[in-house]
Amino acid sequence: MSVRAAGLAEAVVASTVDLLEELCAISSASGDRAGLYAVAERLGSELACLGLVPELHAEPGIDGEAQPVLVARGPGVGERSTLLVGHLDTVLPAVPPRRCGDRLEGTGALDMKGGLAAFVGALRALRARGEEPPEDLVLVAVPDEEVGGPISVRSVRHWGGAAHTVLVLEPGLARGDGETLVTGRRGLTTWRLDGRGTAAHSGVAYWEGRSALAAAATWAGAVQRMSERGDGPVVNVGRIVGGDSEFVSDVGEEHRFIGTSERLNIVADRCLVEGEIRHLAAEDCERFLARMRDLADDLARGWGVELELAEIDRIPPMAVSAASAGLADHLVRAAAADGWRLELEPNRGGVSFPNFLPDPAAVCVVDGLGPVGDGMHTRREYLDLGSLRRRIALIAEALVYVRDRGGK
Ligand SMILES: [Zn+2]
Repeated sequence: MSVRAAGLAEAVVASTVDLLEELCAISSASGDRAGLYAVAERLGSELACLGLVPELHAEPGIDGEAQPVLVARGPGVGERSTLLVGHLDTVLPAVPPRRCGDRLEGTGALDMKGGLAAFVGALRALRARGEEPPEDLVLVAVPDEEVGGPISVRSVRHWGGAAHTVLVLEPGLARGDGETLVTGRRGLTTWRLDGRGTAAHSGVAYWEGRSALAAAATWAGAVQRMSERGDGPVVNVGRIVGGDSEFVSDVGEEHRFIGTSERLNIVADRCLVEGEIRHLAAEDCERFLARMRDLADDLARGWGVELELAEIDRIPPMAVSAASAGLADHLVRAAAADGWRLELEPNRGGVSFPNFLPDPAAVCVVDGLGPVGDGMHTRREYLDLGSLRRRIALIAEALVYVRDRGGK
């Protein structure tokens, strides 16, 4: 069986657009508790009509205040589940939405009330055909994705631990005459290099000084250049603070020296460099950290200083598992049969929901299922209503595929 965009009942599409317009009219910028609750309740009541059991969980957010997480469960949720993930919050507070030809202009229309509405539309489309979604379906919609909040991370860790399949309703991208689906996201590893040398008066004892700053800056230029185009890892040096050790250890206070000639006569004995590596595979990250460490050792010997590299934190990549590839390929074929082009995006750069799964490689995960548009996070944000129709069919097709495979 195949769900076709062209074959969707007009009533299903029209009611989905109406719902989206309503959701966009509710202002739900991150931190706006009343607005977040209103969106969660509106969406929950819609899902209750479609056979799911919605619950609002109050969870402490960044500031400790309770915020809503909408959890809507199918009738057969047991130990394993089909998890759908989305967020209720937007970056900007809402202005009234507006239909303009084949676009819906509105705050969060694209990111990502469109994905949530498309999911509701997909359930309606299945119902209209007399079909059921997977029994073990769970939708989790969080309130703090746009601020990288703790509820999003916790919820994905918790609900993702029991999922055999994870479908993320974030928007795809418009690309040429087609649209994308995200099958891979880069991981993110942050690091810090701590350089220590020997201070000396640059006028009278220059050759006794050992500049940690010069060594670390040489290192920083070289590691930035290790970055590989395409699917390879990239290194970004985000920050360097160098100078005499008092300056570096109390830069908040000592920054007043910047722009003056004070203390420029000291061979700089301390330097901190901080940055990140973005990588599609853990091996790539290990390979880069090893090269960065070797280079630090070499330069430290050459300059007579200490350079110590430490990994600070690591968020794993969302890798393309065999199960993910199976579903993604199926959807590409389904879109082609439906008369439109769906492309895979295996290396999206930004960290998002799938990166927080306990083991992204162990589950079937497809991201970017939501409809496309443009102007995300701006007052120009809009959703392409043709894409909304296509994504209703695409999400319905994904649900049927997962249901028929029973989580295998
Ligand atoms: Zn988003």
